[in-house]
Amino acid sequence: MSQQKNSLASAHSECRHNWTQNEVKALFDLPFSDLMFQAQLVHRENFNPNEVQVSTLLSIKTGACPEDCKYCSQSSRYRTDVDKEGLMQIEKVLKAAKVAKEQGSTRFCMGAGWRNPKARDMPLVVEMVKGVKALGMETCMTLGMLSAEQADELQGAGLDYYNHNLDTSPEHYNQIITTRTYQDRLDTLTNVRSSGMKVCSGGIVGLGEQSKDRASLLAQLANLSPQPESVPINMLVKIEGTPLSDVDDLDHFEFIRCIAVARIMMPKSHVRLSAGRDAMNEQMQAMCFLAGANSIFYGCKLLTTGNPEADKDMMLFDRLGINTETIASDTDELKDQQAIQTAVVDQQHSDMFYNAAN
Ligand code: SF4
Repeated sequence: MSQQKNSLASAHSECRHNWTQNEVKALFDLPFSDLMFQAQLVHRENFNPNEVQVSTLLSIKTGACPEDCKYCSQSSRYRTDVDKEGLMQIEKVLKAAKVAKEQGSTRFCMGAGWRNPKARDMPLVVEMVKGVKALGMETCMTLGMLSAEQADELQGAGLDYYNHNLDTSPEHYNQIITTRTYQDRLDTLTNVRSSGMKVCSGGIVGLGEQSKDRASLLAQLANLSPQPESVPINMLVKIEGTPLSDVDDLDHFEFIRCIAVARIMMPKSHVRLSAGRDAMNEQMQAMCFLAGANSIFYGCKLLTTGNPEADKDMMLFDRLGINTETIASDTDELKDQQAIQTAVVDQQHSDMFYNAAN
C-alpha cells in the first residue's frame, strides 16, 4: 500500500507543462474521495501539510479603474459603493507594513486598481517597494499590466513577487473582460518572469463559466514554464452593481475540486485560498486546506469584499492544528496586535485585493 502511495505521489510531483484539457477534465471527474486522496499525496510530498503561508495585503489605490472586468467593483463603468481613493502616501503604506510585520507577517502585498502604472506612478511605487523591503519583508505588488521596462524597474527596487491573474479560461475570457486581451495578460507574466521576479497568478471561478473553462484555466496556469510560485484560486464574490452580481452560485464541492486539481497540476506552487473565503464556513475552508490550499491572506479585508476576522482564522488554525510561518501564535498577543492594526490602517485601505486583482 505504501509503495502504491509513493508511486501515485511521484507521478504527480513533477511540474508538467503539457497538460491537455482532457487530462484536466479526467482529474475533475474523479470521485471526490479519490481526487482528495491524490491531492493529499502530492501536497504531502511537496509541503508540510499542516502549514499555511500567510500574507498581508493593502490596497494602495482604490476604484476609478478604466477596465471593464465584470466582477469588479473598482471599475469606473459600474455603480458600486466603493469609495475612490488616489495613490496612498508612502508613509501610510510603510506604517501599515510595519504593523503587518509586528503582527508576524513576512510578506506585504500592495495592490492598485489600475489598467497599468503610469510613468508618473513608477517613482512612488518604487519607493514603496524599497521602503517595505528595508523593513526586512518580502514584497509583492499587483498594479495591472507591466511593460518589460517597468518589470525590470520594480525588480531592481527589490520587488519579490508580482500578481497578475489570468482570471478565467481563454475561451470564456471575452465574456468577462473586453478592455485587455488574454495575450496582454500572458505578456505581463512573461515580462515579470523575465525580470527575475516570482509570479503570482491564478483566477476566479463562479463567473458563470462552464466546467471546461475551469479545466482550461488551470491548464493555462500549469503550462506556464516555470509554473507560478503562487496560484490564487478565487471564488467570485458577487458585488451589487457589477454585471455578475446575480450570476448562479458555484457548487462548493466544485470549488474544492478546483483547489485539489490545482494542487495536483502545480505541485510545487503555493495554492492560495483567496477571495470568497468570507462566504465559506469553517468546514469548507478545512476541506480546501485538505485539498491542498496552503496560503491565505490574513486578517484584513479584501479591497471590495469581506474576509474572515483574523482571530477567527487563528482559532480555526488552532482547531485544525495548522501552523503559520507569519503570524504570532499567542491569541491574546494577536488580539492586541489586531487592535493596533485597526487603529492604524484606514479600513478602506485594509481591504484585500484579489477579487479585484489586475
Ligand atoms: S479587476 Fe483590476 S483591472 Fe479589472 S476593473 Fe478591477 S481594478 Fe480594474
